Amino acid sequence: MSAKARESIDRGADDYVQFWAAGESGKGAYRCSECAYYVTVCRTLPVCPRCAGSSWEQVEWSPFRRALRLR
Ligand SMILES: [Zn+2]
Repeated sequence: MSAKARESIDRGADDYVQFWAAGESGKGAYRCSECAYYVTVCRTLPVCPRCAGSSWEQVEWSPFRRALRLR
């Protein structure tokens, strides 16, 4: 049984956080769930180069949204 994969789920009540595994296809910005290393992905999720973790959390990547909302 791997308890390690599940322990990061109960981190709070804000929103549901989905985790993605290395080798899955993905696009955008992701953060390692182990060490918070940040990567941008255009095809396939890698294994974390820092901690060799394989669980990723998708990060919203929208640098312009905030500026547009100001007006
Ligand atoms: Zn990592």
